[in-house]
Amino acid sequence: MVVLTFFVSHWLLCVFFQSFFQHRYAAHRMYTMGPRTERVMHLLTYLVQGSSYLSPRAYAVLHREHHAFSDTEKDPHSPHFFKDVFRMMWHTKKRYEDYIHGRGQPEARFLGGYPEWPLVDDTLRTSWLATLGWVALYTAFYVTFATSPWQFLLLPIHFMMGPVHGAIVNWCGHKYGYRNFNSSDKSRNTLPVELLCMGELFQNNHHKYGSSPNFAARRFEVDPTWQVMRVMAKLGIIRIATPQRAVWPEPREAAREAGAARAA
Ligand SMILES: [Zn+2]
Ligand SMILES: [Zn+2]
Repeated sequence: MVVLTFFVSHWLLCVFFQSFFQHRYAAHRMYTMGPRTERVMHLLTYLVQGSSYLSPRAYAVLHREHHAFSDTEKDPHSPHFFKDVFRMMWHTKKRYEDYIHGRGQPEARFLGGYPEWPLVDDTLRTSWLATLGWVALYTAFYVTFATSPWQFLLLPIHFMMGPVHGAIVNWCGHKYGYRNFNSSDKSRNTLPVELLCMGELFQNNHHKYGSSPNFAARRFEVDPTWQVMRVMAKLGIIRIATPQRAVWPEPREAAREAGAARAA
């Protein structure tokens, strides 16, 4: 029970910080916060994601490319160009590392506006000692609390939590589920798995209205990360910077439908 609680908490916290900090803040600037709060959030993201921490800069650049080239050959991770999820993630990892090491230059429009902290993003993230420290910490927890050998099968997921979430969101979110809005890509909303991904799987809503801070648009959709952001905004920790445009039905569509109903 202790191990399962740890696994679920680590899973949800990792995906929350990926959605909240790397995605909605670094890549999209959906909210602002003071420099000290930004540092605290940056550090918390590193501490929670540990061995699988992703550089906000590289994440933002890759993600902005994903929006600009969604489901075309230039998309860094469209499931429609790869035979399986492993090949897609390998390709994404290569592009991520190329940008980190300065091989290949992204277009200027994808640069800037993300938080940078060399001590965390470069020194700690690439330090073998730090990575081994995280791996040792997760393993020690399992050695202390595991009650059955099968539970150790969960350990590798802790080591690679960030890429595991990326694989689920990028593969499922452009392949399985329903669409609320017409968009030029193949993005979908994958409702059953969405709560486990803290709102990240409302890909269709998010691709159509990329700057809307709430990824949910319909009554039955709930975006947990947005709910946390709402509370943070109320408490004055962050300030929401972009308006909510993802609403369903779309005002224009709704007006057209109402007009058609009147005419009938
Ligand atoms: Zn997407
Ligand atoms: Zn996005």
